[in-house]
Amino acid sequence: MSMDRRQFIKIAGISTVLGFGGTLGLSKLKDSWASEMLQSPEALNAKHWAMVIDVKKLTSEEHYDKAISACHRAHNVPNIGNPKEEVKWLWKETYEHAFPGMEQEYMPEGIKHKPFLLLCNHCENPPCVRVCPTKATFKRESDGIVMQDMHRCIGCRFCMAACPFGARSFNWRDPRPFIKEQDENKEFPTRTKGVVEKCTFCYERLAKGEMPACVEAVKDTKALVFGDLSDPNSEVRKILSTHYSIRRKPELGTQPSVYYLIGGEENA
Ligand code: SF4
Ligand code: SF4
Repeated sequence: MSMDRRQFIKIAGISTVLGFGGTLGLSKLKDSWASEMLQSPEALNAKHWAMVIDVKKLTSEEHYDKAISACHRAHNVPNIGNPKEEVKWLWKETYEHAFPGMEQEYMPEGIKHKPFLLLCNHCENPPCVRVCPTKATFKRESDGIVMQDMHRCIGCRFCMAACPFGARSFNWRDPRPFIKEQDENKEFPTRTKGVVEKCTFCYERLAKGEMPACVEAVKDTKALVFGDLSDPNSEVRKILSTHYSIRRKPELGTQPSVYYLIGGEENA
């Protein structure tokens, strides 16, 4: 689900009027859930996790399929087979849909028609967090990941309406019959009907010292780079300070943590 700027401002306003801005006294719940996630000594840590996607390095359908299926397998994302009920954490979109208003007639054909990998942007200023009445979605203060606690989700879908990037999916039906037994990751929970879900920057893999599944799946391309935006020596910072990058819908002020390189080295 996507929304235009007017709808976005409206929902942001409603959330403020209703007082869903974090004053419901549920912060204790949030803290307890966050502390339940145990970290191994090998855990990867950052003050602000971010991803850079160099679209020119994704040169074949296989690259996209590998990244998407690695994510969806790792997280038991069901394959419903009906676009209206689709559940997606990582998906492909055209430039004009990914970056509406940023297209122009004379842009390179290669970019105009290239698929872009989209996911939750883990916004610095996430409207989905502001509208959630139960704090099922919250921003982890330690590293900026916008988390989704499926157990606390009541299915109101306010977060879906508030997200201007269509990054969240709703389980209209029980997802379990749509996960093939041979594909199921027994180490990651499955969801239930009536629950919202999205990419969580693979917090569970980071806690074990592993990179996100999508990054790992296409690591030979070096197209997806994940790291600490607050560290000037991190690869993401080095790339962003030497290459021109864009983010989705910057005019909304959500400050995405996912950056796209569209021109490669020649635009450095
Ligand atoms: S992309 Fe959408 S779901 Fe993800 S943090 Fe931003 S507003 Fe929330
Ligand atoms: S970071 Fe993890 S959860 Fe997010 S799209 Fe990549 S594999 Fe999926």
